[in-house]
Amino acid sequence: MAKNVGGSGSAIKKAINTIRSFSIGLATTFKHLYRPRVTMQYPEEKWVPYPRFRGLHQLRRYHDGLEMCIGCSLCEAACPSDAIFVEPAENPPDDPKSPGERYAKTYTINMLRCIFCGFCVEACPTTAIVMTGEYELANYDREDFIYTKDRLLVASPEDNAPLSPLESV
Ligand code: SF4
Ligand code: SF4
Repeated sequence: MAKNVGGSGSAIKKAINTIRSFSIGLATTFKHLYRPRVTMQYPEEKWVPYPRFRGLHQLRRYHDGLEMCIGCSLCEAACPSDAIFVEPAENPPDDPKSPGERYAKTYTINMLRCIFCGFCVEACPTTAIVMTGEYELANYDREDFIYTKDRLLVASPEDNAPLSPLESV
């Protein structure tokens, strides 16, 4: 008849391992029990973005109401994902839109392409384009992710978003 060599020993080892794993799991649970919660009850509770957060873009105005964008297309050239389209036009002398010779007749950002890198902001010579703290960009239709100039340009200078700490240096 064959002997049961080490049968009870391995059962004890198994039991010890189970109890150890169980204790580690419980210890982890208790460790986190009284820590501050990191989840929030969105959308009732809103997350406050950091000052350098890069959210939805905004086109700003000067204090006299003129558009800061001069239609130079540098942001379009800097965009690595081809998300920006700028169509410049000559400023009408009797009704200039911007202080420069030209302004952006068409300005569009395809937010489905945007990777929020901020290169457009860095490339802009007039700080016309900034990235705001707006992060609630979910939508149902692809067309709604195409931000045209009328959606990006502030109605008045009072609505200008502040420059990020990096831009204002
Ligand atoms: S943040 Fe980057 S990807 Fe998005 S529009 Fe600007 S340059 Fe393009
Ligand atoms: S947003 Fe700035 S970089 Fe882009 S076209 Fe206007 S002025 Fe030029």
